[in-house]
Amino acid sequence: MRIKCEMDVVNRVLPSMNVKKGGKACHTQLSIGRKPQSDNKEGVLFIMACTAKDRNGTKFQIRDNVEQIFAKFINEGKATIRFKDPPQDLCLCKADPLQLKNFLTLIRKASLGENIDKINLSTLAPASNKSVDKPKTKMSVTSRKDYPLTKSFPSQLEYLHVSQCRMKKIDSRIFQLKKLQHLDLRENVIEELPSTFSQLENLQELILCANKIQNLPSSLCLLPKWKQFLSLLDLSNNGITLLPVQLCELDNLVTLKVDENKLETFPPTIGRLKRLKYLSASQNQIKTLPCSFMQLRLEHLDLFNNPFADDTKSDLEETEWQAPSLVECCARMIRKNRLPYSEEDLHTHLCRYLDSARLCWCGGFCFERCVRATASFSLKTLSPTVSAVDMRGRTDVPILLFLCSPQCQRKYKTNPYAYWR
Ligand SMILES: [Zn+2]
Repeated sequence: MRIKCEMDVVNRVLPSMNVKKGGKACHTQLSIGRKPQSDNKEGVLFIMACTAKDRNGTKFQIRDNVEQIFAKFINEGKATIRFKDPPQDLCLCKADPLQLKNFLTLIRKASLGENIDKINLSTLAPASNKSVDKPKTKMSVTSRKDYPLTKSFPSQLEYLHVSQCRMKKIDSRIFQLKKLQHLDLRENVIEELPSTFSQLENLQELILCANKIQNLPSSLCLLPKWKQFLSLLDLSNNGITLLPVQLCELDNLVTLKVDENKLETFPPTIGRLKRLKYLSASQNQIKTLPCSFMQLRLEHLDLFNNPFADDTKSDLEETEWQAPSLVECCARMIRKNRLPYSEEDLHTHLCRYLDSARLCWCGGFCFERCVRATASFSLKTLSPTVSAVDMRGRTDVPILLFLCSPQCQRKYKTNPYAYWR
């Protein structure tokens, strides 16, 4: 039986002799096996620890020699095995919890002299290079000739950068890399983002700039782990015309880059991205901003070179109020209470209707029955380092807002800035 983990060996006698030994955990292969001895045909059970520096391994006898096993944090892949002779502790971490449990159970039984012959023991042979070398966690491929076509990607990769490889579809082998945290596929020719992305549960940073993507699938923004952990999304220099409203569900998003696309506006609920600090959307087709944009608190904002309307004086549509339909009343409640909906339980038409919600400045939602107003807003109030939207240094932009009820309309007339601060 073998497991791989990180191990630090602590000598319990050294501190009493006032000797300090700076321990550093290193990648180790631990095996349990029998070492034949002249007087005992069966051989004695040993644990053998092999590291890159010590491939031949150090052996620790098990029978009547294990003083204690500390396994309080076994579910985190951590445990300590204390030996009587030599007086050393093997501190293990980063092991697979299930394998570690089986391994420790076996040691317990063996130390008490129980029969464990049914279990497959290992030969106590020196470890191969592959099993004790630290697994590769980073990989960068920047040209097509270096792309691994015949070899597979190292399975423990956490960081993968593949650029300038003319990749049209994302290689399905990438989706098998469960530990991936940072994926950078810039400067390829990717057109579509498949739903298999959902397999990359630990992804924290996704860089897809300079590709040919036209659409960010809404289902990706609803993946529970992405909602919780995705902090950086770079979609600059693609052909995206619309960001899905579900993007605003990415609760941990800190950086969003959508420069050089074909966006005409932001999702109406963008203000929900409470952690968002860096937003750049230069060189798009944005003419107005949604009202919830004003709720963002950014450290950096770049909206340079967008065709914002010049005339930004406040303007309010005067209409006769009509009561909203029953469909609209239901839809308002669904969006207000953030009830989840998908094409699995609602007709596509109703899903699109729900997606089209407009956010009133009171925080409520409205659909058809609403009043439209345009107001001028200074971007300087959102971020200390806002860059101007044009060469003339302009920072005032028009925001488009919707008023959901006669009450909201009256309040707006009295003070158009009442809700923003
Ligand atoms: Zn309202």
